[in-house]
Amino acid sequence: MSKIEIDRDQLIADLSAMIRSASVNTFGAPSGIGAEAAMAELFEAKLRSLGLEIGSHEVVSGRRNVWGTLKGIGRGPTILLAGHMDTVGVEGYADPFEPMVKDGKIYGRGSCDMKAGLAAYLEVIRYLRRTDTPLSGDVIVVGVIDEEHAMAGSRHFGLHGPKVDFAIVAEPTLLQISTAHKGQMLTTIRTKGLAAHSSMPDKGRNAIYHMGAVLGALQDYADDVSKRAPDAICGSPSFSVGMIRGGDNACSVPDFCEIDVDRRTIPGETSAVVMKELHSAMASAKTNALELEYEIGTPFLDLPPLDTQADALVTKSVVSACKAVIGHVDVSSFPGSTDAPNFGCPTVICGPGNLAQCHSLNEYVALDQIEDAARIYIHAILSMQTET
Ligand SMILES: [Zn+2]
Repeated sequence: MSKIEIDRDQLIADLSAMIRSASVNTFGAPSGIGAEAAMAELFEAKLRSLGLEIGSHEVVSGRRNVWGTLKGIGRGPTILLAGHMDTVGVEGYADPFEPMVKDGKIYGRGSCDMKAGLAAYLEVIRYLRRTDTPLSGDVIVVGVIDEEHAMAGSRHFGLHGPKVDFAIVAEPTLLQISTAHKGQMLTTIRTKGLAAHSSMPDKGRNAIYHMGAVLGALQDYADDVSKRAPDAICGSPSFSVGMIRGGDNACSVPDFCEIDVDRRTIPGETSAVVMKELHSAMASAKTNALELEYEIGTPFLDLPPLDTQADALVTKSVVSACKAVIGHVDVSSFPGSTDAPNFGCPTVICGPGNLAQCHSLNEYVALDQIEDAARIYIHAILSMQTET
């Protein structure tokens, strides 16, 4: 296939408009600067202007996922091109929403993570339209909310959006491929005591002492987890205690103490299994502190691992697309968590830009890479048609 022509001016115009549309995630706060709503409206308008069939779901009040479907004419697979519309914060960032093009790069908050990917998707659709390429299955482009916080958008789309067979997520990988990453589970463990005046500690039960017994047991659990057989791509699972709160003042026997813990899971581990492991670690703490009363909270973040197989059609197609467009390819795990496992189908991560720039105060992405990303997606989509 000859080199695919990309409309760079249009690509820059699309990406600049999206950078200007501030969409900082509020991270659970009821409001904040640059709500995702305006960005969703902008992205929806762009999808509509390309002649796509538009869909939208309000995931949480005022925050919508938006998608557009390019209809196929046969029974080929439905391919999802997915990206998040939100960004991280901008504290200390000079002119975060004023896009600047310089030396082949475009700068601004969200440029790399991951509005460049969304802009590449628009170019994919423009190409398929312009060339009147027949597709056997549908291609859906979706912008989801809330990736940077709790991934509510992709979870909602996976459960309630249109059914898809394969997905590509354009998180920045320098156009290399990630087929796997760890999952993450955050929860709170609380010990309960009985308050009393500290001059009469025997009248109470000290929840902080009880947490001491728990911490010993959890340290053993962390050691055990770290020594387990690693996943071939993701490496070893881990467990860590990250925060502690407890008591009220020095003169009271504390009636509560709580810790927040972080468990990184590898493919094959589920949060249900992790909860069982935590309960059995707590049971061993109990033998050291007989009166120990505790509870393990429902996880306040629960992200599954990604585990897409090397022989999945989407993996093979994106691998050969990368080889065709940039001449080489490396398949590895993605360092963080992403929306990818939530789409409920074989999914690979491959996008323009470097993760190192993502949350920095000098975010940018190379324009050549966005162009190549669009070419890679086009190649992959076309090869998925022919193999069906
Ligand atoms: Zn991202």
